[in-house]
Amino acid sequence: SYAFGEPVKDWDSKRREWLKLHPSFAAGAAVDNRVLIVTGSQPTVCKNPVGDHLQLRLFKNKVDYCRIHGLDIFYNNVLLDPKGTGFWAKYPLLRAAMLAHPESEWIWWVDSDAVLTDMEFKLPLEKYKDHNLVVHGWWNMLYEQKSWTSLNAGVLLIRNCQWSLNLLDKWASMGPQGPDPKNWGKIQKSLIKDKAYPGSDDQSALIYLLIKEKSKWADKIYLESEYNLHGYWLGIVDGLDGISKGYMEIDREVDLLRRRHAEKVSLFYGQMREKYMREKGIWRENKRRPFVTHFTGCEPCSGEHNGMYTWKACWNGMQKALNFADNQVLRRFGFVHPDLLNSSWVSPLPFDFPDA
Ligand code: UDP
Ligand code: MN
Repeated sequence: SYAFGEPVKDWDSKRREWLKLHPSFAAGAAVDNRVLIVTGSQPTVCKNPVGDHLQLRLFKNKVDYCRIHGLDIFYNNVLLDPKGTGFWAKYPLLRAAMLAHPESEWIWWVDSDAVLTDMEFKLPLEKYKDHNLVVHGWWNMLYEQKSWTSLNAGVLLIRNCQWSLNLLDKWASMGPQGPDPKNWGKIQKSLIKDKAYPGSDDQSALIYLLIKEKSKWADKIYLESEYNLHGYWLGIVDGLDGISKGYMEIDREVDLLRRRHAEKVSLFYGQMREKYMREKGIWRENKRRPFVTHFTGCEPCSGEHNGMYTWKACWNGMQKALNFADNQVLRRFGFVHPDLLNSSWVSPLPFDFPDA
């Protein structure tokens, strides 16, 4: 058996040294913005017969995003620590990814059950320049209500640096990799009243650190709520048809504008659309594409979904989100899923449909 391993020391200077020795990676400003997406799933066949099909579609969605934005992706399906199963699998993995990819400034963990539903959106990295960990969440909900849903640990952006390695060690020490996970489960439950899962979970562990060791960690952690770095699927999927129609109408109008004002062709299509949407006041989150739709609780692989909703609701929601995202990819190929619930049916777009 192998363990989480000795803590890594002096990573910042080692990484700096490495970048000096590999000048092609160190060149230009690009190094500050280099992002590696890390995601993965369990080593074995999914119990749910449609689970592996869904994993493939969920992975395709991330690969498409990476292709469009020139990001690197690593998919892991082994347990780097045999005790770190389920959501704990990401901690030894994130640490290994940092060490294996010193050229990446950021590691972006995306749960397999999270769908990137805005294929154009780019992470606003400039905003995070003074922070080392970014997760979706709300400070007031965290400190006033100490709620389990005040942040989400299923999608996280973490800087490749010593601070992060220290955090990962601390974080994982509260899980099954650590000495006393049962006790941590109890401690978390007494602090976080709406915690449902009885054992120690990583989301509660982060909330615990932000509350109990605030001065040590909080100033380097950014809780994002201006866009959906993580968006809870239940509040999103019903709106996707409407958002999709809205964007199609806007696409047509922007295309007309573009034809009328040939000089504006220099603007990227996406930029033109953003400008148009801002001018028309259609800029609210509920009309915009959500960036990430996370099917937390649906457990597509094990099939042991949360009792608050049916599997059918999860399945339909996932079809909608995946086809909604895929439409943004397919349109360049001249096709569309006209019905977000029907994954097999695509139809060609009119020949003069605006290209992205
Ligand atoms: N996961 C993994 N290896 C495993 C099991 C899970 O990498 O052996 C990852 C997978 O990406 C999954 C994530 O851990 O999405 C967290 O689990 P899940 O999404 O089921 O938790 P939830 O979001 O429902 O709380
Ligand atoms: Mn998840």
